[in-house]
Amino acid sequence: MTVLAPGPSAAPRPLSVVAPATGAPLAEVPTASAADVTVALERARRAQPAWQELGPRGRGQALRRLARAIRDDGQLIDTLVAETGKPRHEAVGMEIFYTLELTRYYAGRAGRRALRDELRRPFLFAIKRARVLRLPHGVVGVIGPWNWPLLNNYADCVAPLMAGNAVVLKPSELTPLTSLRVAELWKNLGLPEGVFQVLPGRGEIGQALCDGCDMIFFTGSAKTGRQVGARCGERMIPVVLELGGKSPMIVLADADLPRAARAAVWSGFANSGQVCIRTERVFVETRVAERFTALCAAEVKALRQGAGGDRPGDQDIDVGAITFAPQIDNAEKQIGDALAHGARVAAGGGGRLPGDGRFFSPTLLADVTPDMLVAREETFGPVLPILRVRDAEEALRLVNESPTGLSGSIWTADVARGRALARRMVAGSVCLNDVLMNYFVVEAPLGGVKASGLGVRHGPEALRQFCRLETIVEDQPFTGRLSPFIQKQLMFPYRSRTLRVLRWVMRRVY
Ligand code: NDP
Repeated sequence: MTVLAPGPSAAPRPLSVVAPATGAPLAEVPTASAADVTVALERARRAQPAWQELGPRGRGQALRRLARAIRDDGQLIDTLVAETGKPRHEAVGMEIFYTLELTRYYAGRAGRRALRDELRRPFLFAIKRARVLRLPHGVVGVIGPWNWPLLNNYADCVAPLMAGNAVVLKPSELTPLTSLRVAELWKNLGLPEGVFQVLPGRGEIGQALCDGCDMIFFTGSAKTGRQVGARCGERMIPVVLELGGKSPMIVLADADLPRAARAAVWSGFANSGQVCIRTERVFVETRVAERFTALCAAEVKALRQGAGGDRPGDQDIDVGAITFAPQIDNAEKQIGDALAHGARVAAGGGGRLPGDGRFFSPTLLADVTPDMLVAREETFGPVLPILRVRDAEEALRLVNESPTGLSGSIWTADVARGRALARRMVAGSVCLNDVLMNYFVVEAPLGGVKASGLGVRHGPEALRQFCRLETIVEDQPFTGRLSPFIQKQLMFPYRSRTLRVLRWVMRRVY
């Protein structure tokens, strides 16, 4: 067990980080205290102006150096695997790969272009021009969940940092070690002190950040998201909320069924189902439902489950451990409810696996109906329900009844029809004949609607959220010479001749 050096004002109850795949203790991490939050915010405020002064190019260079260090750090990968219990393949191929791709995008030309000042020429007052500036808010608090300790924690700091903010990151109490390792890499590279800080702790630290930061970027449950949103509303500070969902997959009869089945099982069971945009439920047209279910069942039976550590063969697993114990209770509750109401297990169904590790058998449920818990409430675990529908219209109606709207996928050979259905699906993003790819297309916004959140990550739209807008109105270099004359006409003392001119303009222009 590693004991990290406590801070000057460490709270008495440290975080005990346990490896989900083995049950072994990994580290005791001192929690930050309220005083530590104050100190961190002061440090961030002192460091931020120089970081802003570096400009997008300088900041981009720093972020690219950090990304390369993340790519090459074996300790970071081991930490990520150990504290989540996920397969090494997912730690590297999803979390690290995504962090590099996101940094490539934001730290490069696309990021610089999105942050550039913009000159706008007014139509009416042609003697003027407006310069629109995108300036950092100051200190952004990033609050992350446990399911992606890099991708939804440090990687969510990339856009706010690129925009010129200092960032204080609070990782989940269950998985703080990856973020602490990133902070170490930042320090080892000699990147500016105070610009990126990690404060391990429980919910109170998240609350304290909401009380002290200039903006919050929160990823987590809808329940906490509402509290965070309410506090930010009270303080009138901007907030981005990336919350949960019940993302559907709609499989039409003309779809490539083996391909759709492979995708359903991958997106249902990757990261042991602990993925916000995972396929939470599948709606399949009745006439192909039996064949599709059999194909999915064969895929589930072929899954290899185990620890994602360093032992020989460990890399060859598909499904890892459950990072957060209550997800098992939730899976059991939903499976129990479904079976009691007429669903059947089409594959898996072994429940908790014996041993010290926290493993749960990937379970495919068939004959699920819309009223069952597993069809309505977020599962966020390795359970995938299949529901039969008459046609696409019935599927869409059921999908749009949901109080959430995060993501979805539509499977059909007719792409134009798929696109038309996607337009009518109320969701932040939809994949046609694919799954999860919407998270890796970093050029386009990704977020939730309804109870799935506010704001987006990715694309210029996300980067600009981390900026406050400021407009400077000034004279045009040449026509602006007329400015003193126009001012004289418009300002005190009012003249009836000016009013006549304004009336004339209103009639002619509008
Ligand atoms: P939680 O809402 O429980 O926690 C998220 C973070 O908020 C944690 O760091 C937590 O700290 C912190 N926190 C807890 N209470 C407060 C508070 N009062 N004020 C401020 N911060 C607080 O979510 P989970 O960690 O359980 O994450 C799982 C959820 O996240 C799922 O619903 C999933 O769908 C969603 N999610 C959404 C994503 C998206 O992009 N839309 C991506 C990934 C996950 P601590 O853990 O220490 O209690």
